[in-house]
Amino acid sequence: MSAAPSLQPDRPISELFAMGRPLRSLEFYPPRDDAGVEALRQTAAALRRIGPDFVSITYGAGGGTRERTGEMSALLRDEFGFTVMPHLTAVNHTRAEVAAVAGEHYRRGIRNIMALRGDLPNGSPAAGAFKDGLCFGSDVVALLRELHPDLCLGVAGYPEKHPQAPSFEADMENLKRKVDAGASFVTTQLFFDNDAYYRFVDRCRAAGIDVPIVPGIMPVLSLKQITRITSMCGASLPDRLVRRIEAAEDQPEIIEAVGIDWALAQIRDLLAAGAPGYHLYILNRARSALTLAAGLAA
Ligand SMILES: Cc1cc2nc3c(=O)[nH]c(=O)nc-3n(C[C@H](O)[C@H](O)[C@H](O)COP(=O)(O)OP(=O)(O)OC[C@H]3O[C@@H](n4cnc5c(N)ncnc54)[C@H](O)[C@@H]3O)c2cc1C
Repeated sequence: MSAAPSLQPDRPISELFAMGRPLRSLEFYPPRDDAGVEALRQTAAALRRIGPDFVSITYGAGGGTRERTGEMSALLRDEFGFTVMPHLTAVNHTRAEVAAVAGEHYRRGIRNIMALRGDLPNGSPAAGAFKDGLCFGSDVVALLRELHPDLCLGVAGYPEKHPQAPSFEADMENLKRKVDAGASFVTTQLFFDNDAYYRFVDRCRAAGIDVPIVPGIMPVLSLKQITRITSMCGASLPDRLVRRIEAAEDQPEIIEAVGIDWALAQIRDLLAAGAPGYHLYILNRARSALTLAAGLAA
């Protein structure tokens, strides 16, 4: 399916942040097959009524579903009217390839991109995976900024440190490089302990990073799922949360309720503390986002 490019370009997300109200964003991943596309369409239809300020679509670094990111961005934008922010990673791409992907988004009227280095599918980056000097997120930001000065670029930040960074200080210097190269905001890796986010924001401000830092929140669906995800991304799981999940034993609905309850408490606390919004890792499921929206409306 190829959607006709919309004539009206999207509004840069940086302008939305400048309005001073907290923004709600949702993250999708591109489905692998047509059945997944149909399921995503249904999820998007259900989520339209909570009116996210923007939605992002991940990019499969190193293979598989790459083209689908563009297709899903077009679908979510043109069929559902969402402001979309496709992700774009450097892994295994030449500068010309990154330019081609970004150029296609731009032609469609997309004006927001999440610029990333990416991981290889099997984990850590391998020699030869980074081409043409595109080795870090900051290189992607610099390239996109040069090609399309009016793009609004988001970048990733790590409240509990990127797993490959030798220290918090080094990671902070590298985040500063991304912002200095032209990123307009930071979305964080998921975390379950808000204190990690607050410490991270303090360190960013002390380092002179003054763009919005959006907390990334993932409602837990199962202990197995969250243990796998946190072991890959380096986020810590508070004992109190683990105990609650364990107490639910194998009852998925109760675990889901525990996950929603934890995420709701996190978001309420973050917004009360002045966070510029929140980004939900929804794993293409509408239910947790809808339940959270209802909880926050109260
Ligand atoms: C919000 C968010 C969205 C994501 N979306 C995707 C996605 O769609 N697809 C996907 O594959 N992955 C995605 N990821 C995962 C991400 O690709 C990985 O975490 C990846 O390992 C790092 O990407 P980055 O852009 O943050 O890298 P970078 O900012 O380049 O950092 C990677 C590592 O290199 C270090 N570093 C950076 N610059 C330098 C330098 N100049 N010299 C030395 N060291 C340096 C950093 O400290 C860090 O340890 C996402 C992560 C987040 C938080």
